[in-house]
Amino acid sequence: MIVYLQLMKQGKVYLIGAGPGDMGLVTVRAMELIRTCDTIVYDYLANPRLLEFARPDAEIIYVGKKGGDHTLPQDQINQLLIQKAKDGKHIARLKGGDPYVFGRGGEEAEEIIESGAQFEVVPGVTSGVAGPAYAGIPITHRSCTSTMAFITGHEDPTKDDTAIHWDKIATGIGTLVFYMGVKNLPMISKNLIKNGRDPKTPVALVRWGTTPDQQTWVGTLDTIAEVAARGKVAPPTLIVVGEVVNLRKKLNWFENRPLYGKRIIVTRARAQASGFSGKLEELGATPIEFPTIETVAPESWDALDGAVSRMASYDWMIFTSANGVGYLLQRLKETGRDIRDLAGPKICAIGSKTAQAVEALGMRVLLVPEEFRAEGILAAIGDVKGKKILIPRAKEAREILPDELQKRGALVDVVAAYRTIRPKTKKDEVLAMVREGKIDMVTFASSSTVSNFAEMFQPDELKEIISRVKAASIGPITSETARKFGFDVAVEPAQFTIEALAEEIAAYFAKPTA
Ligand code: SAH
Repeated sequence: MIVYLQLMKQGKVYLIGAGPGDMGLVTVRAMELIRTCDTIVYDYLANPRLLEFARPDAEIIYVGKKGGDHTLPQDQINQLLIQKAKDGKHIARLKGGDPYVFGRGGEEAEEIIESGAQFEVVPGVTSGVAGPAYAGIPITHRSCTSTMAFITGHEDPTKDDTAIHWDKIATGIGTLVFYMGVKNLPMISKNLIKNGRDPKTPVALVRWGTTPDQQTWVGTLDTIAEVAARGKVAPPTLIVVGEVVNLRKKLNWFENRPLYGKRIIVTRARAQASGFSGKLEELGATPIEFPTIETVAPESWDALDGAVSRMASYDWMIFTSANGVGYLLQRLKETGRDIRDLAGPKICAIGSKTAQAVEALGMRVLLVPEEFRAEGILAAIGDVKGKKILIPRAKEAREILPDELQKRGALVDVVAAYRTIRPKTKKDEVLAMVREGKIDMVTFASSSTVSNFAEMFQPDELKEIISRVKAASIGPITSETARKFGFDVAVEPAQFTIEALAEEIAAYFAKPTA
């Protein structure tokens, strides 16, 4: 039995800048605290994907607000933080961008310190710097401006007691970056012109900057209100005023990435989707995760437990997926065993991801067939006559591998390490996006995801999807299945990996005909 020594911990609130949206722009310090804190309190603008890094037992509380629509009023947020700190918790209080830039972070900090709780602030990359940068706009540039200001656009500029000296900022400062200003944009631009700024000054609006949904509109002070109205520009949006906006023509790297603005359906199971989604995002796409299968423990562990107790008698153990490795390990732990109980057989892993999962356990993989398909393994493994082979895998996988091994004289034990089930999904949402022409591609990483995807829809719904959306498939077998259902398979990489699939999708959309 393990005895934990519980020391009475002193509570502490970390006021953390969660960055502007892109996960890569979160500081190392912020990430460290997200991983270790007991409680995470987060806002509307903090990327919810950060929560995936929290401890599994961390308490997660959403206090976000969208526009004026508060989930929790500010004084209650403060009380919550103080109470949790009194309970001895370490709290990661995540706020979008930088906590002290228009985030009411200063108010939270004051109250926390007054309460006597321990406190630390972790600055973040503010959207007013990062949003323009991702829209191709450096907020200062020696050739056009040496001053800039961050200004709240929340205030009605026509009210008499405005705290903003419009006459001074209109002409006294080079670049003006307004936060929370879309609603007041007509008044902001009018006011700047009235106070002497050239009506032809370029202006950019950057919405959801640094995220896959980033959108940018450009105009001049005298046209931008009209541009915003036409584009139905809504928060969160930054207004960037100044000559630097012209540099966007040269420096717009983010929106020029190959898959920028493309929405791509990822049908992989949730546990594996994030790697592929991340890769697509890096290339500029918005992945729409739509898992068609989910893995769960098998109905009975008897077969696997039995195989483990006979482990030394096997010549080979073949893993066909990282899932198989994960569930086997989980079962070993549950039964008070560990990887030493896997001694004996040589290990073969199909595909590099599977091999990595095995090697992560400190076990050596002897054979990794280059071809991801089961057929590849048969060519690589050589003579199996009389050999005992264990395959821990999904209950409902294709039979070709054990069948072929048996035909060659092997004694094969296929045991269920997990099974796949149909998850709850946002089917109607996806269907609506397809109908609005908002989906650019659907991706399949295995034959079973194709058939599972097809089964989730009514026949006429499926027909509609197939007629509107092209498919990308990981390899020939998956493509064959997709074509059987009627999909137009436009992308199939030469290498059967999700990285290659993502690259090939990018190449497809880069073609002028696509
Ligand atoms: N503390 C935050 C700002 C909070 S005020 C920061 O440092 O970024 C909220 C305003 O910030 C929004 O109305 C919008 O103007 C701006 N904003 C925050 N994130 C943004 C993003 N990703 N893209 C564009 N604007 C953003």
